[in-house]
Amino acid sequence: MQLFDVAIVGGGPAGSSCAAFCAMAGLQPLVIDREKFPREKVCGDCLNPSCWPILERLGLAEKVRDLPHSKLCSVAFIAIDGREVTLDLPSVADCEISVKRSLFDDLLIRRARELGADVREQITVTGLSRNGDWKIETASGQVFHARMLIGADGRNSTVAHFCNLLPRPARERVALQAHIPLPRGFGNRIVLQFLREGYSGQAPVNETQLNLCLVGTPPTISNLRRWAERQFHLSADQGWRTITPLTRSSVPSAHENLFFIGDAARVVEPFTGEGIYYAMRSGELAANAIAKIFRGDDRKAVLNEFRRAYARMYRGRLWINRLARTAVVRPQLGSFFVHAARVNPGILKLLTTKIVSPDICHSE
Ligand SMILES: Cc1cc2nc3c(=O)[nH]c(=O)nc-3n(C[C@H](O)[C@H](O)[C@H](O)COP(=O)(O)OP(=O)(O)OC[C@H]3O[C@@H](n4cnc5c(N)ncnc54)[C@H](O)[C@@H]3O)c2cc1C
Repeated sequence: MQLFDVAIVGGGPAGSSCAAFCAMAGLQPLVIDREKFPREKVCGDCLNPSCWPILERLGLAEKVRDLPHSKLCSVAFIAIDGREVTLDLPSVADCEISVKRSLFDDLLIRRARELGADVREQITVTGLSRNGDWKIETASGQVFHARMLIGADGRNSTVAHFCNLLPRPARERVALQAHIPLPRGFGNRIVLQFLREGYSGQAPVNETQLNLCLVGTPPTISNLRRWAERQFHLSADQGWRTITPLTRSSVPSAHENLFFIGDAARVVEPFTGEGIYYAMRSGELAANAIAKIFRGDDRKAVLNEFRRAYARMYRGRLWINRLARTAVVRPQLGSFFVHAARVNPGILKLLTTKIVSPDICHSE
């Protein structure tokens, strides 16, 4: 029976980053994901500039720049009545880009594998038990054993569910996402458009494709889909990926021999486009903590240090997330912000700069 140092359930940005950093620290990580990579994922595909330092530490920044992507120069906020305000994004080298998750996540998981992580794809975790070490059961019948367990399996975390930690989801909203042909003259911009029944996010991901996201409530999402069909000349049989919930309470991140990272721990409002950063950074923090525990450092002190660093990652940012959520849950209010910003763009500029500023990353 092979006993892994760390078993990581989920190979998205959180799980892959954590596995890569664990492997760099000399540990033997296992990653289990139910999907076969490369795979798409419901996401706006925008990479916040704060990701760059982490990608540097993973040795991946250049490789990400080599992927087909779009450099995003501005963000346009459009009110329900069609009035809009456009703000420039910082045009630094490490700027905000958009890149398809199939490409980005595949690069991350391949890096984890290259560094020594044992990556098992198309395996769904179906059961967990703990008797000292963790026993992980899967749909294929394979059983894995590990000393530490990481839940990196997204907003509907199976690990949190089996540990009785998954909060009841507020099924208040649902998101649809598709890659569609890039409309002529769209430009290198993000569009955040308030609609009567929700909102839409749009960003070019390469020279020919647009990432289109729609966020609404279950009863209204079909109206939003019809709006998108008219707006972008899509056929009624356009395929959409879907995900819910968009909001739920957080799961405590650090437990004894168990961590939750990325969306499994905390779901942020997609409107701000920061989820990938939090996923990667929390993966790095968990890997650092686990490496210290394996090195023999005092476990309690390490967990406290992790909790502080984890809280620091969100410090001063959750209120923006809450504000964004308030604005998008009531699109009339969001539209009011757009109208106000047309008169005085100061506040919207400040919020946007805070979100996309490359210096928010806290390295250790
Ligand atoms: C509409 C929308 C738009 C968004 N836009 C952006 C954006 O533009 N920029 C941004 O930074 N963030 C955005 N986000 C958020 C971002 O997508 C997430 O924060 C990010 O994907 C979290 O990464 P993760 O690794 O924690 O989880 P995920 O990326 O969800 O990865 C979890 C992995 O776990 C695997 N898994 C799940 N259950 C099991 C199981 N039982 N067994 C095995 N494997 C399992 C899944 O297959 C998956 O690969 C958006 C989110 C939404 C909903």
